Amino acid sequence: MSFTLSLTGVSKSYRRGDQQIQVLQAIDLIVDAGEFVALMGPSGSGKTTLLNLMSGVDGPSTGAIVVNGTRIDQLGSSQLAAWRSRSVGFVFQFYNLMPTLNALQNVELPLRLTPLTGAERRRRAAIALELVGLSDRASHRPSELSGGQQQRVAIARAIVTDPEFLICDEPTGDLDRQSAVEIMELLQQLNRECGKTLVMVTHDAKAAEYASRLLHLDKGELMA
Ligand code: ADP
Ligand code: MG
Repeated sequence: MSFTLSLTGVSKSYRRGDQQIQVLQAIDLIVDAGEFVALMGPSGSGKTTLLNLMSGVDGPSTGAIVVNGTRIDQLGSSQLAAWRSRSVGFVFQFYNLMPTLNALQNVELPLRLTPLTGAERRRRAAIALELVGLSDRASHRPSELSGGQQQRVAIARAIVTDPEFLICDEPTGDLDRQSAVEIMELLQQLNRECGKTLVMVTHDAKAAEYASRLLHLDKGELMA
């Protein structure tokens, strides 16, 4: 059986002074290509830490993380950064847009790390903005957009490099109900129609219903 992502015997602890804090323990998880996984759990249970390990933002203390046959926990930092920029798109609770750039320029940002020409970067950014339904807001700055629109820009930025994975950390956490529904429908569309593999942390049971699988994290341990 082919899989996209596997974590085997993964743990993560942080050292704070002479204290060792165990954040994740004995995590075994396989995510298949095309899945939409929702991850729920109390604040401080290690959800963001787990996303950071899956996306190579942080490394595990023990265990193996394999993505499409590559042990990402054994890559060097520059190889890891290159892998991440090709393979993973990130969506955060508070959008993390650059306030001085307009929507199109924000979406174009990840492409500045590629050898594409400026014209090609703008063309691809415009396609991504169109996909999230915001072509008519291309020249607006984040402060001129609603929360839901800012999150659409952030999603366009996450998909502009055409990554296989989308990692979403509470993507509807700062949105009203209607905007949250629109964002979840967009994420579902990216999963079903564009074949993106999604892992999403959420506190929102309604948002989690859009996923095809629900996982719970409690005190650093994973439960189906
Ligand atoms: P969640 O996203 O579920 O709220 P986190 O993964 O952010 O939880 O954090 C889990 C635990 O790990 C918390 O107790 C937090 O204080 C601790 N933690 C997270 N990152 C670090 C770090 N860089 N250094 C030390 N402790 C950390
Ligand atoms: Mg978190």
